[in-house]
Amino acid sequence: MSGNIKLNVNALTEKRQSMEFTIPVQDIDLGSEGIILRSDVRMTVEAETGEKSLDLHGRIETEAETACFRCLKPVIRAEPIEFDVRYVKPEDFGSDEESQVGTDDLLTDILTSDEIDMAEVAREQLLLDMPTRVFCREDCRGLCEKCGADLNLIDCKCSDDEIDPRWAALKNIG
Ligand SMILES: [Zn+2]
Ligand SMILES: [Zn+2]
Repeated sequence: MSGNIKLNVNALTEKRQSMEFTIPVQDIDLGSEGIILRSDVRMTVEAETGEKSLDLHGRIETEAETACFRCLKPVIRAEPIEFDVRYVKPEDFGSDEESQVGTDDLLTDILTSDEIDMAEVAREQLLLDMPTRVFCREDCRGLCEKCGADLNLIDCKCSDDEIDPRWAALKNIG
């Protein structure tokens, strides 16, 4: 069932062409990255065919769930992701400085076939958009290292028993 959402490059008859894709959750595997999609991915793309390149200007909408870095609570990211990707044929990729391909602000990919797998494009963009550390809220207090209590909800007493590290250091000097 998966892998059927393709953009056929040869079917692009106009210089600029808009299209829409809906990619089912199960077509995008982000499980190993700790991301779970909670809704199908809606993607709108404007394809711009150039002399030596194909640019995709797109927008992705979905609900991506990941865990708070501190307390592990689920965090949903639902803001639309805007992206630009440039495709060039292998023979045009970085071949000479005169060629217009490879501007800095665009991601450049090599076009290896006549079809672009849009589920893969969406997967890459979702990964790029996801910060390495996501927090449920900026001042999340996380979990207690000792008892695992969610410090946003309760004040466990674990830290009360501890010697203040500054005192411990003084003790070592003496
Ligand atoms: Zn948190
Ligand atoms: Zn505790």
